[in-house]
Amino acid sequence: MTEAMYLDNPYLDLAEATVTAVGTDGGLYVDRSIFYPQGGGQPGDSGSIEWGTGFRTNIKNAIYSSDRSSILLVPEENQDLPEFGQTIIQHVDWARRHALMRMHTAMHLLSVVLPYPVTGGQVGIEEGRLDFDLPEGETVEKVSATEALNALIRADHAVTTEWITDAELAANPTLVKTMKVKPPTGAGRVRLVRIGTDIDLQPCGGTHVKSTGEIGEMHIAKIESKGRINRRVRLRFGPPAEAA
Ligand SMILES: [Zn+2]
Repeated sequence: MTEAMYLDNPYLDLAEATVTAVGTDGGLYVDRSIFYPQGGGQPGDSGSIEWGTGFRTNIKNAIYSSDRSSILLVPEENQDLPEFGQTIIQHVDWARRHALMRMHTAMHLLSVVLPYPVTGGQVGIEEGRLDFDLPEGETVEKVSATEALNALIRADHAVTTEWITDAELAANPTLVKTMKVKPPTGAGRVRLVRIGTDIDLQPCGGTHVKSTGEIGEMHIAKIESKGRINRRVRLRFGPPAEAA
C-alpha cells in the first residue's frame, strides 16, 4: 500500500519515502508518494530521487501497480537503482506538475462554462482537452466561452476537497444532482473537488491548485467536431496567440 501524499497536499515537491519493493522492470514501489500516478486523464509526474551516498536517479513517470494498491516510480533507463528498504528523498518536477495542476483546475472550470456531458479529456502541460456532447443545434463560441472561463479564474474561487462514503452518497441523492459526474461507488469512499461554494462539484482524484486565480489567463485554442454532437475543446495557457 502506498500513501498518496499528493491527495492531501498537492504542493509537496519534496518528501522522504522508503522503497518497499523493486519490480522486475525496475519500477520502485514506495510506501508514500508525492508523485501523481498517471490516470484519470492526468499524466504521471516526473522528477528524481536522492538516495545512499550521493546517488540521484531520474524518474520519468509514476504509475499504479496492477491492483492499484501501490504507486511505482518509473526510473529512466540505465541508472543505478536503490534496493528494497532504501530511504529515498523524492523530488517532483515542480514546474511541470504546477502547470498540470493549473491546467487540470481550468478544465473543471471549462466544464462549468460549457455545462454539457463530458465524454473524455486529457490534461497536458501545454494543452488540455475536453470532449463534450452538445445538445442538437447548440454551438460553442470560442471568444465568449474564453471570457466566461477567465472571469471564473479571476474571481479566485477557493478549490477544496472533501471525502464522502458510499453510504453518505446513497443517503443524499440530491448531492449526485449537484455533481457534474456521478462518482463511482464500490470503493467505500470517493473524493469530491469543490470550486467556490457551489461553482462546481465533481468526484476527482487529480491534483488541483488551491484557488482559481492561481491558474492565470487561459484561452480556448480550438473547437473541433468529433461527430454529430461531439465537440473537442482545446484549452491553452495565456492569451490567444493573435492577441499575445
Ligand atoms: Zn480534477
